[in-house]
Amino acid sequence: MKFGTKLIHNGNEIDEITGALSIPIYQASTFHQKDIDNFSKYDYSRSGNPTREALEDTIAQLENGYRGFAFSSGMAATSSVLSIFSAGDHIIICEDVYGGTYRIASKVFSRFNIEFTFVDASKLENIKKAVKPNTKGIFLETPSNPLLKITDLKGAIEIAKESNLIVIVDNTFMSPYLQRPLELGADIVVHSATKFIGGHSDVVGGLAVAKSKELSDRIYMIQNSFGAILGPQDCWLLLRGLKTLKVRMDAHQRTAIKLAHWLEEREEIERVYYPGLESHLGREIHFSQASGSGAVLSFKFKTIEQTKYFLNNIENAAFAVSLGGVETIVSYPAKMSHAAIPKEERQSLGVSDTLIRISVGLEEFEDLADSFNEAILSVL
Ligand SMILES: *Cc1c(COP(=O)(O)O)cnc(C)c1O
Repeated sequence: MKFGTKLIHNGNEIDEITGALSIPIYQASTFHQKDIDNFSKYDYSRSGNPTREALEDTIAQLENGYRGFAFSSGMAATSSVLSIFSAGDHIIICEDVYGGTYRIASKVFSRFNIEFTFVDASKLENIKKAVKPNTKGIFLETPSNPLLKITDLKGAIEIAKESNLIVIVDNTFMSPYLQRPLELGADIVVHSATKFIGGHSDVVGGLAVAKSKELSDRIYMIQNSFGAILGPQDCWLLLRGLKTLKVRMDAHQRTAIKLAHWLEEREEIERVYYPGLESHLGREIHFSQASGSGAVLSFKFKTIEQTKYFLNNIENAAFAVSLGGVETIVSYPAKMSHAAIPKEERQSLGVSDTLIRISVGLEEFEDLADSFNEAILSVL
């Protein structure tokens, strides 16, 4: 079955009890048991809830894994997955990982004696060099934020397998429609479902999928122990969002590639970062592991005046953090996602004060181009 069909027909589209074409929101904390000798499948909603289970089963099928898990945010998913490691373990992690992941690794897990080495994972030799006798895992994100740097997943997985490392991939930017790391040999995928999976800027949630039963059992133990579960209403919203994932992504991407080319033509703009552009570093590797370029792009203005003018004047777009919504979202990494990183370090990562990130929404390209045109100040 092709991906678009699987989004609609995956066994979770009809409520078995009533035939309703939508899984009910089982808004219950606990479940009545009929038989003292045979407790039913559900007993308490932290341990299991039918609405959550429908979502967890759906994402497991879409990522082609053994079992899925729904968490209260993307960070709850990542934190819970990282909790399968123990004191003394070492984890290799890409240096341009999502800011919240950087924070939980460097400020929280480090206090529990889990050691992290941050590397530029777009160069495989950096990963190879970072492996130590106590290395147990590797955490990757590709394309990365905000410069859309590409990591060769197959190459990284090959290195990881030589040392029996658990490979975790944050697949938020691509979604399972465009990239399925488990099929390439990764062990665990995590998502901020807040972004493209939810797709409407109205829910915060996280998902994880493990490839093996053994890893699934370890993650379930953490999910049930930590309890950072997603509530049934939000699970329902994600199930609803998923049904249109393919059509949204297709439309997002069609506009994103047009906008990237349009921006590349403008002399006020120094550089555009988007895996769909011929000029993008790592483009070939990206398309060997993903079937599309996604809907997030970044660009740099030539001057700070142009940058400020654009941010203050852009219309038909939200100026906000986050991405993956139906509306175009313009964000300013220097003061938003990367504000916590000292200026010099930020600039060495390429996150300059003239960098703008766009999550391309579902507006018509012509209207977006008009709005962008109005907000670009010609000071040349
Ligand atoms: C937003 C985001 C996260 C964190 O997800 P939340 O739902 O905000 O907790 C993690 N990784 C990436 C790539 C993200 O964009």
